[in-house]
Amino acid sequence: MDDFIDKILISQEEIETRVNELAKQISKDYVGKEIRAIGILRGAFIFMSDLIRNISVPLSVDFMSISSYGDDSESGGVIRILKDLDKPIHNKHVLIIEDIVDTGLTLQHLKEVLAIREPASLRVCALLDKKERRIVNNLEAEYTGFVIPDQFVVGYGLDYAEKYRNYPFIFVLKSKYYQGI
Ligand code: 5GP
Ligand code: MG
Ligand code: MG
Repeated sequence: MDDFIDKILISQEEIETRVNELAKQISKDYVGKEIRAIGILRGAFIFMSDLIRNISVPLSVDFMSISSYGDDSESGGVIRILKDLDKPIHNKHVLIIEDIVDTGLTLQHLKEVLAIREPASLRVCALLDKKERRIVNNLEAEYTGFVIPDQFVVGYGLDYAEKYRNYPFIFVLKSKYYQGI
């Protein structure tokens, strides 16, 4: 095992199984509809590509890149759109694909921004959920892969200082590899 890995929290096999389950559920719930899947860059890109390959209803993709004001590990609560959607979402069945919901502030603001554009429906599919860190009330993703404890995780799209996105499992780094988390 690589030296920087403290603990593998979710294995490649566990991810694959759960992502397939989510895709099945989504395919069932959206029968007769067309999904506009919106990937939140960059953390969600690997999850999204695995998820949508297992969804069996018509689907198109778009991407948004947002950053929260504040540093990299703590959400500031207000989001800044770095790259907006290419296409309008008016009357579309929008499914936001996120890597992780932590305090919930990012998602709350994102949902507000998108709701103004009047999609036909607006749901969220998040790979990870740090439930105990939530500070926004009544903010739950409609689809959640895994509830995880309050630990900073990387891998499977998630980064620390832009690294570790390429690992096919989700893990905790050894503390000496973090600076100031
Ligand atoms: P929230 O606004 O819910 O507090 O923060 C959500 C964002 O913070 C995520 O989309 C992600 O970019 C970042 N984040 C929160 N927890 C983690 C974590 O454990 N690992 C990584 N890599 N990013 C995280
Ligand atoms: Mg994110
Ligand atoms: Mg990040």
